Amino acid sequence: MAKEENLECSFCGRKKSETDLLIAGMDAHICDKCIEQAHGIVEEEISEASTAGLAKEIILKKPLEIKSFLDQYVIGQDETKKAMSVAVYNHYKRLTQVNDENEVEIEKSNIVLVGETGTGKTLIARSIAKMLNVPFSIVDATVLTQAGYVGEDVESILSRLLQAADYDVAKAQKGIVFIDEIDKIARKGDNPSITRDVSGEGVQQALLKLLEGSVVNVAPKGGRKHPEQKFIEINTKDILFIAGGAFSGIDKMISKRLNMQAVGFNASIEEDKIDEENLLQYIIPSDLKSFGLIPEIIGRLPVLSYMNPLDAEILRSILTEPKNSIIKQYEKLFSMDDVDFTIEEGALNYIVGKAVEYKLGARGLRSLCEAILTDAMFELPSSDEKQLVVTKDYAEEKMTKTTLKKLRAAS
Ligand code: ADP
Repeated sequence: MAKEENLECSFCGRKKSETDLLIAGMDAHICDKCIEQAHGIVEEEISEASTAGLAKEIILKKPLEIKSFLDQYVIGQDETKKAMSVAVYNHYKRLTQVNDENEVEIEKSNIVLVGETGTGKTLIARSIAKMLNVPFSIVDATVLTQAGYVGEDVESILSRLLQAADYDVAKAQKGIVFIDEIDKIARKGDNPSITRDVSGEGVQQALLKLLEGSVVNVAPKGGRKHPEQKFIEINTKDILFIAGGAFSGIDKMISKRLNMQAVGFNASIEEDKIDEENLLQYIIPSDLKSFGLIPEIIGRLPVLSYMNPLDAEILRSILTEPKNSIIKQYEKLFSMDDVDFTIEEGALNYIVGKAVEYKLGARGLRSLCEAILTDAMFELPSSDEKQLVVTKDYAEEKMTKTTLKKLRAAS
């Protein structure tokens, strides 16, 4: 065996006396300097592998697979699910594109969804983020104002995404942002020269920068409350933006356009009878312009799709069919107290009937169920009763007029 003073690092050959620490292995030694260097190499390799891994993981999902994933959570809305699947697939294909100056550059496929509130716009965006396992954040466009005005700067959108990514910048840069109520920042009136349109065109201009992809200085904690914080640079080029809005009144603009086309020489529209009940299905980008979005914003949201209104049949399916449907959630909650919970068809139809009658939409389904089941959820955990069968009569008894009125007022 080598004498203590003759020991050396098997990697760099330094003598023991030249090192601060020499660690012995089975047949070799390693010095502190080599350990540090090796640690650096390991860190670098792991981070490269995880970036590559992220891209690989994402690209594995084909549009068909994305659509069938969405089918588990979102009922109906097939057109939009299809359009989104393709857009998301292309977006993440774009992320894995090797940068080559002569290559065709694939542009971003940011999306805009038009449809009444409660038809599943947020749900679709959230489900996509869940599937891809990328950070997701929701912002309400109504709180955004032009820089310098009271409200939130457009950059705050990215602070939220950064928070959702646990401050991992690389992850945040591949995340998804859902901008809700984009219609609320439409230009008021058709006069583009309106000045000081604080919540309208100015915000749209500020948003443009984010949508098209640029490096933005972001206050990690958001807001202006922490002036001491250091800014973090975020590149938005690979962030997918999904905007949603009800665009109430846009149906009239669509109808007007369609009628004008029909009066003109457009035979095809006359041949296909227009479905007046659901005019959103005919939406085209120029309708968004008539509504008050500036052409540049519309150009940065190239994928346009619409949500169908939810009828009784769809509401009925929403109650029980999605993977984490409301009823499945109650089953689970009750089963945790060993209560066997069943709800009869009559009760389900009663709930749907009330949601339609009081125009509560899909969001109202949960509140209706809550109103019906609160008593049981309060009493059963402390009782010996281990079964709950909700019949139509039971549902009716628990649902009073006042509750319904309250629900309508809240929706
Ligand atoms: P929006 O963003 O269009 O206002 P949300 O996505 O927030 O609507 O929908 C509200 C809730 O209604 C969702 O959390 C979900 O429970 C339910 N919901 C709405 N539409 C659907 C749908 N098509 N399929 C399943 N659930 C839906």
